[in-house]
Amino acid sequence: MTTFYTQNDVKSFVQTLKLKNKTIGFVPTMGALHEGHLSLVKNAMTDNDIVFVSIFVNPTQFDNSSDLEKYPRTLDADVDLLKTVGENIYVYAPNVQDIYKKEVKAENFSYDGLEFEMEGKFRTGHFDGVGTIVKRLFEIVTPNNAYFGEKDFQQLMIIKKLVSKYHIPVNVVGSEIYREASGLAMSSRNQRLSDEARKESAFIYQTLLKAKEKFGTKSATKVKEWVQEQFEKHPLLTLEYVEIANSKNLKTVKRKSKNETYRIFIAAFIENIRLIDNIALN
Ligand code: AMP
Repeated sequence: MTTFYTQNDVKSFVQTLKLKNKTIGFVPTMGALHEGHLSLVKNAMTDNDIVFVSIFVNPTQFDNSSDLEKYPRTLDADVDLLKTVGENIYVYAPNVQDIYKKEVKAENFSYDGLEFEMEGKFRTGHFDGVGTIVKRLFEIVTPNNAYFGEKDFQQLMIIKKLVSKYHIPVNVVGSEIYREASGLAMSSRNQRLSDEARKESAFIYQTLLKAKEKFGTKSATKVKEWVQEQFEKHPLLTLEYVEIANSKNLKTVKRKSKNETYRIFIAAFIENIRLIDNIALN
């Protein structure tokens, strides 16, 4: 497996691929890879001749310096894991300078309001950082298809908006959330959880499932209140937000209407580690 460290090397290699009419699938990640990432890589392998996986902890999307500092960085293990998935996978693992040159700063993006909901409210500047890195990576890798997880559902919608607003010729593909046996959504941040916290964190998904059941008969407001009560009773987990939002525009709703589809979103802390999850409600 080849690992590229500079955008110039990636660009020259990509040129040779284009001359051979090879299709490129792209999976952008921040590393500390797990089965969730691999499910995206496998989808990309099915649809494309070759797959690029980028591994880059993007500083401009972190609003919390301690979270950035503590984010797990495990490049060697990541490459070993990718080797188990197959051939025709190429890694791009740049350093901060290769991406940002002298100025480590996000550009400003408008995503027609998607950026003001949920994660956008609680992580200042996060989606400017995401837009900056993803747009740059798309320009370097020039993929035919790019794969993003529904684990970060709002991010997936924002990337689709980015691509359409900037006329970037890439097809954005969403992938289902990959979960641990307990139901906990896989995340690189799970590596930092103690055994007890990891076990307790399954509560997030269990609560989402029960909320879905309640959504059949109760209003969005009532379901949200019920979720808040459950978290208040939990000794280790602290709820940051629960929202029920329209799946198409992420506008949060109080009252549901028959012809729309909705999702429920949770962000919660345990041992100072922030976990997010979401599921479709109907
Ligand atoms: P990250 O490395 O956390 O930035 O994630 C890289 C990509 O993998 C993003 O598109 C995530 O949504 C996706 N991803 C992360 N965890 C999961 C998961 N448990 N299931 C599916 N996709 C995931």
